[in-house]
Parts: sequence; C-alpha cells; structure tokens
Amino acid sequence: MGPPRLKAAAEIEAMAASGALLARTLDVLAGAVAAGVTTADLDGIAREHIRADGGQPSFLGYRAFPGSICASPNDLVVHGIPGPRPLADGDVVSLDVGVTLDGWVTDAARTFVVGEGRPQDLHLVATAEQALRDAIAVCVPGGTVGDVGAAVQARAGREGIGVFPTLIGHGVGRSLHEEPQVPNVGHPGHGPELRAGLVIAVEPMLTLGRPAIRLAPDGWSVFTIDGARATHAEVTVAVTDEGPRVLTPWGGTDRW
Ligand code: MG
Repeated sequence: MGPPRLKAAAEIEAMAASGALLARTLDVLAGAVAAGVTTADLDGIAREHIRADGGQPSFLGYRAFPGSICASPNDLVVHGIPGPRPLADGDVVSLDVGVTLDGWVTDAARTFVVGEGRPQDLHLVATAEQALRDAIAVCVPGGTVGDVGAAVQARAGREGIGVFPTLIGHGVGRSLHEEPQVPNVGHPGHGPELRAGLVIAVEPMLTLGRPAIRLAPDGWSVFTIDGARATHAEVTVAVTDEGPRVLTPWGGTDRW
C-alpha cells in the first residue's frame, strides 16, 4: 500500500459508476436470499450480474480467492468462500461484493436475515447499519480516521454489541486495498486526516459475543472465536467538499 491517493472529481464520478453497479448487485442479491438457496448460487448470480453490466468481480482471483463474493453466514464474520451450503430460516448471512469497472474498484457489504430471524439478530444487523450511518456522517474534510472508528465504537457500545478491533476498513480506488487503514475503533481527532478526494471503505463488523476471531484452515474464513453471530455492513464513501458521498448506495439512496 502506498500513501493515500486523493481522487479528482472525474475519478470519483468513475468510481460512482462502479459503485452503482455494485449497489444494484447487492439489491439483486437481496431478492435472491432465501431458505434453500446456496451461497454458491448467490455467487453465480452476482458474477453474472456484474459481468452483464461490463464489470468484473474484484474478489475473484484476489490472492487466489475462489469466489466472486464473500458469503459469511452466522458465526462466519467475513471472507467466507461461497459453497454448497443452503441457507436456512433464521440464518444471518453477510454478502461482501467488490466491483471493478473501467479499472476502478468499489467495495460494499450487506447482511441479510433469512426469514423472520431472532430479535437479537435483527438488532445486531440494525446496529451495524446505524453504526455505518454514524460513521459516514463524519467522513468530512477536516475529520480524521479516528472519528470514523469512534463513531462505530460509540454506537455499538450504546447497543451492547461487540466491535472486532482487528477487522478494519481501508482506502479504495485503483486497488482494492489502499491507505489509510480505517479501524472500527478509535479516538475522535486522532489518526490520518480526512481530505476531500479521499475514498474509503467503511465497514463495521460487529458481534453478539466476544469480539475475537479465529482463521479457518482454508486461510480465508474468519469466524467468531465463541461461535456467536456476527454482521458486516459496508459502503465505499468519498470525502468531498459537499460532504460524504456514498458511492455504493445499496438498499436505495434514501437509506444513507
Ligand atoms: Mg472492504
């Protein structure tokens, strides 16, 4: 990773096109998630949708990752490899998608509850989405990366939800992972400054249990250490002089 590379207005527009395709893909996946559907099915749906609109799934082949998306049910936090596992009623599955369009990468994730879901799981997912909104709101010039982490940490803390200290967001642009690192914990006013033209993936990853992880033998799958359920909400957001601009507005622009 090099130093943060600020994007010009035209570059942010190009990233917004990538992000719009990503948001549409997540919305298509929202309609496909159901009991009996496998995560491999969802992977195929996403791959075909991205390619049909001229994009590439950024994760496919990234450090030899075998999927087009990451699909992480229940105690899988992130980086789950899509496979033959059928979703069941009550499952909590996060779907993380990367899109490359005209060389610009965007990154976003959304967590779905299959069927009715347990009340605590609905609370977990809603808390992550609210933490993400809180974090987006502080993505303004003159702010800091610490403001972002502090916003996530405060919301989760108020709701009695755990934050993984070691799972973090990142800059994004020509590459999937650029500087700066964007932790989900932090101190207001600390860390790298947020400047107009900075584009970052903000991604609260939260748990009902103890915020500690273990890596599975497949080298990718990140599980909670205690088997508790986890969730992941992510957007790519541009810091602009007009305020935060969400480039991957999944679920409809009015959500953000
Ligand atoms: Mg990310």
